[in-house]
Amino acid sequence: VNFFMQPIRRLSEFSQQLQDGMTGFERFIEIMDIEPDIIDRENAMELKDVKGDIEFNNVSFSYNNGKNTVLSNMNLSIDAGKTVALVGPSGAGKTTLCHLIPRFYEIEEGEILLDNIDIRDIKIKDLRKKIGLVQQDVFLFTGTIRDNIIYGDPEANDEDVIEAAKKASIHDFIISLPEGYDTFIGEKGVKLSGGQKQRISIARLFLKNPPILVLDEATSALDNETEIMIQKSLEDLSKGRTTLVIAHRLSTIKNADEILVLTADGIAEQGSHENLIEKDGLYAKLYKSQFKDLMQE
Ligand code: ADP
Ligand code: MG
Repeated sequence: VNFFMQPIRRLSEFSQQLQDGMTGFERFIEIMDIEPDIIDRENAMELKDVKGDIEFNNVSFSYNNGKNTVLSNMNLSIDAGKTVALVGPSGAGKTTLCHLIPRFYEIEEGEILLDNIDIRDIKIKDLRKKIGLVQQDVFLFTGTIRDNIIYGDPEANDEDVIEAAKKASIHDFIISLPEGYDTFIGEKGVKLSGGQKQRISIARLFLKNPPILVLDEATSALDNETEIMIQKSLEDLSKGRTTLVIAHRLSTIKNADEILVLTADGIAEQGSHENLIEKDGLYAKLYKSQFKDLMQE
């Protein structure tokens, strides 16, 4: 069983089925497991403890067999526990870059290393267990709230689930529901707001406890107040974990150990907020035009 969130592309294929209410947890697992695009190498190794160093060496990637090159000769290194913020225009390849780490796609050239091991030499299931993914579209399946949280670690007990929900600041809401953690969610169950869904997915990740986090920051779906609260939970979650975040919020960007400005031509600039402002290049321009007036820090 693969306990990792699959790409949206794949999810959307069966989200309709989920909405039709035909499925429970078992069916979901079944669907997740069929026909994986990418399979283990013959001698793929198991992963036990992971520090979380990530390195891209001359990575090139394109969609559609070379017709749509997204990354060419990309180099990038993130030390364990550090946070790197990816910023840049839409279509630059930020989401794609993030999706290469859990090996949703096969790269064409170069290598991606986790703790100095080529990720293609690691069992995919083990690799994905070490990565927590937060995407704009939260994925919850038809089932109880408990089912949805425990998905992060099926061996967890009730206390663990509650602790994770508390860390994600969703426990109080859950127990305010008549059926608490047994509340059914989904098309025929209780409807949740975008913020509540995000929190449940964050609780799931606290339970999963991965050393690596990949966050595609959602800004559009949530109201301001909810967003600020979720941001706080995500900050807590990212503590002590290697974090790659596609950042839209100035606070996230400023707090990152390093900022990468990604454009269609590759990494245009990298450094801390202060470095890049001082450099007065593309980042400084983006900052002045996009952030300064919009956000008060
Ligand atoms: P960003 O996250 O920076 O907006 P993406 O990684 O989503 O950029 O997209 C980079 C490029 O790859 C875009 O030209 C986009 O159209 C293309 N692309 C993204 N996903 C796919 C896909 N699944 N198949 C084909 N092309 C894709
Ligand atoms: Mg994107």
